[in-house]
Amino acid sequence: MSAEPSPQSPWQAATITRIEKRTPRVTSFWFQPSRPFAHLAGQHVDIRLTAPDGYQARRSYSIASAPEAGGGVELAIERLDDGEVSPFFHDVAAVGDEIELRGPLGGHFIWEESDGGPILLVGGGSGVVPLMAMVRHRTLRNTAVPVALVFSARVWDEVIFRDELIGLDDRRDGFDLVLTLTREPARRPSDYSRRVDARMMAQAVERLPKTPRLAYVCGSNAFVSAAADALIGAGVPAGIIRTERYGV
Ligand SMILES: Cc1cc2nc3c(=O)[nH]c(=O)nc-3n(C[C@H](O)[C@H](O)[C@H](O)COP(=O)(O)OP(=O)(O)OC[C@H]3O[C@@H](n4cnc5c(N)ncnc54)[C@H](O)[C@@H]3O)c2cc1C
Repeated sequence: MSAEPSPQSPWQAATITRIEKRTPRVTSFWFQPSRPFAHLAGQHVDIRLTAPDGYQARRSYSIASAPEAGGGVELAIERLDDGEVSPFFHDVAAVGDEIELRGPLGGHFIWEESDGGPILLVGGGSGVVPLMAMVRHRTLRNTAVPVALVFSARVWDEVIFRDELIGLDDRRDGFDLVLTLTREPARRPSDYSRRVDARMMAQAVERLPKTPRLAYVCGSNAFVSAAADALIGAGVPAGIIRTERYGV
């Protein structure tokens, strides 16, 4: 699925500089754009692939890296076995390859330190990617803005960025990680083993020192609808909820 193009953002060549498997189904790819590139946490890029016969496929991918990270633009791409573009990255793409990229795109689903908090992040599967950019931005800015991340995955091994997130949670510096596994028992005492619901969202809100200023929800259409309903059911005002839908 592709987001609306921005006329200010032309296509440019970008080289894959690094590839790292994150989970059995998700791999991170780092891209070095050929032109200067500056993004905000939560934004995405469009990727365009062109076959030798001229056929083109475009897809949108959220940026996982923090704006201040350096080292290229990290995209974490989940393999959909029957998909068109994601299997190309998993099976064919290699370090040194050049693809076309456009962006950064998106002006609504972003968080900057100056937006303040507390903030509540809710991600399902690869929907955690733009939220990860926000968490990393918070860490690199060394800010105390309280953040709770509720991350729903099917199983423990599919928790993308798991070690990094648990390491940040262990710092107890105002970042709070809540994992919920939908097909396995919870592994940590404060985690859950069910789909997101209003009670879980109410408990996530209680982990914050005061009412959230903003809530961000990202994932598949079905996940975003369910999580946004759960937030509203927990008393979070609809007006502070920002959503990003990956389609399907
Ligand atoms: C703003 C934004 C950010 C995104 N960020 C990420 C990200 O960070 N990571 C990530 O992994 N994904 C992300 N996505 C999703 C991504 O853009 C792609 O949709 C995803 O990678 C699937 O692409 P694909 O070409 O592999 O699959 P596709 O070929 O697009 O197929 C996707 C699914 O739809 C089904 N399908 C295809 N055509 C039909 C049809 N005609 N009828 C019924 N079913 C059909 C396929 O079977 C498959 O299961 C994002 C999407 C958006 C909009």
